[in-house]
Amino acid sequence: MIQYLLFDLDNVLYSARFGLEEKVTQRVMQYAADYLRLSTEETVILRKEGETRYGTTLEWLMAEKGFTDIEDYYRAGHPEDEADALPADPELRNFLEALPCPKAILTNSNREHVDRILGRLGLENIFTHIFDMRWNSFKGKPRPEVFQRALGALGTKPDNTLFIDDYPRHVNGYIAIGGRGVLLDEFDVHKNYPYPRIRKLEELVNFLQ
Ligand SMILES: [Mg+2]
Repeated sequence: MIQYLLFDLDNVLYSARFGLEEKVTQRVMQYAADYLRLSTEETVILRKEGETRYGTTLEWLMAEKGFTDIEDYYRAGHPEDEADALPADPELRNFLEALPCPKAILTNSNREHVDRILGRLGLENIFTHIFDMRWNSFKGKPRPEVFQRALGALGTKPDNTLFIDDYPRHVNGYIAIGGRGVLLDEFDVHKNYPYPRIRKLEELVNFLQ
């Protein structure tokens, strides 16, 4: 029986078609390229190589490239107007409020970003907890300890907490610790995904019966 819902934020609580996360990635890659004094193309290739070791660009830069200015990184990746194009989503709010269990967010981003997005969407006061990168000491999904720490704070277990994310490796990481995970695959690109997969958040009701 599911007792808690743990949501990723970006491209989960709003559609990927707004291109918001894509722009964050572009700004972060540009920032990393400037820091490393490389072209963005070279940086993207390097980052790809480090992807299996570090889920986030920030962790990779800190662990392997001597990077320390975390707040500057977040300012560059997340300017104040980053979410201005995002419309309010009262339907999603109604849907989430009607779900029979409490909800939290676990994101590989920073709290300012989360608050901005939730403010634009009109989803304030829906989530009991927001676990961001600062809360997780700048360690990101899919590290097992990141999931475990969030579950500890919620007072729940992997098998009674449903985790929803749009990155297969994040969902895989959660399932690997015994969790119940669902991939949100909005554009039906992960057709052969071996674990539960949904196209729309509304389908979550099927996991709560
Ligand atoms: Mg996401």
